[in-house]
Amino acid sequence: MDDCIFCNIVKKEADCDIVYEDPDSMAFTDINKQAPVHILVIPKKHMRSLAEIKDADLPIIGHLFDVVNKVAQQQGISKKGYRLVINCGIESGQSVWHLHIHMLGGRR
Ligand code: AMP
Ligand code: ZN
Repeated sequence: MDDCIFCNIVKKEADCDIVYEDPDSMAFTDINKQAPVHILVIPKKHMRSLAEIKDADLPIIGHLFDVVNKVAQQQGISKKGYRLVINCGIESGQSVWHLHIHMLGGRR
C-alpha cells in the first residue's frame, strides 16, 4: 500500500534502522523508543491489524514470533526478558495500520 509507512519501509522507500529481514518479515527500531530496546516486528505483507488477519495469514503470524525470538537473542534480551505489545484498533491507540509487534526490553 503506497500510503502505508511500514509498506514503504518494506520497499526500502523510507529510512529506518533494520535489525532483521527475511522474505516474509522485517524488524526495525521504533522511531520513538519507549525503552532501551524498542523494536517493531512486522509481516512484509500488508495486514491492517490483528483483527483483520485471514486464515491464510496464520503461518506468517506464527513466523513473527519466531522472528521475535531471533531478534531477542540478537539484541541480548532473550534471557533477561522483554515485553511484547500488539495494539489492535482505535481504543488501543493503534496509530500505524500495518500489523506490528512491539518488543520492549533493556530495563526492568
Ligand atoms: P502503534 O501505536 O502500536 O500503532 O505503534 C506505531 C509505532 O510505530 C510507534 O511506536 C511509532 O513510534 C512507530 N513508528 C511510526 N513511524 C515509524 C517509522 N518511520 N520508523 C520506525 N517506527 C515508526
Ligand atoms: Zn502496510
